[in-house]
Amino acid sequence: MMGAQRHDHRAVIPAVAWLIAGVVFAIVFLFISVLLIRENEAPIPARIFAPIVIPLIFASYALAVGYVYGDSKRRGMRHVMWTLLAIFIPNGVGIILYFILRDPMPVYCSRCGHPMNPGFAFCPGCGSNILPACPSCHRTLQPGWTHCAWCGARV
Ligand SMILES: [Zn+2]
Ligand SMILES: [Zn+2]
Repeated sequence: MMGAQRHDHRAVIPAVAWLIAGVVFAIVFLFISVLLIRENEAPIPARIFAPIVIPLIFASYALAVGYVYGDSKRRGMRHVMWTLLAIFIPNGVGIILYFILRDPMPVYCSRCGHPMNPGFAFCPGCGSNILPACPSCHRTLQPGWTHCAWCGARV
């Protein structure tokens, strides 16, 4: 994309969410291990997999909540509300709702940093040309057009 850049995708989940996920994993791991030591009747596969799989599920939930926080914040959404919904609506429904209802990613002008709609031909902050624009009506052109779809001018 010419002239506009998207934010980095790597650091969406805040470090504190990774920390919480690690603590959650350790606590659930210890809890299940103690349960299995007391419950001598449990079959061998359950003894091996339960202390790994169940804490992983809980830790993933913490990371998903962390993602909702970081992602809603960078999209300029109400991130506190969405994080609380992700935590308190049971069975991950808040997280699923978030992915259905989240706003599109804003793009930022590479010259002035103004947030803008991905389809804009010109930056609303500084007026620099972002996408190919019609020389006649200045609206955004799609790749491959030989004529402007808005005004019919040859491009
Ligand atoms: Zn700009
Ligand atoms: Zn035009």
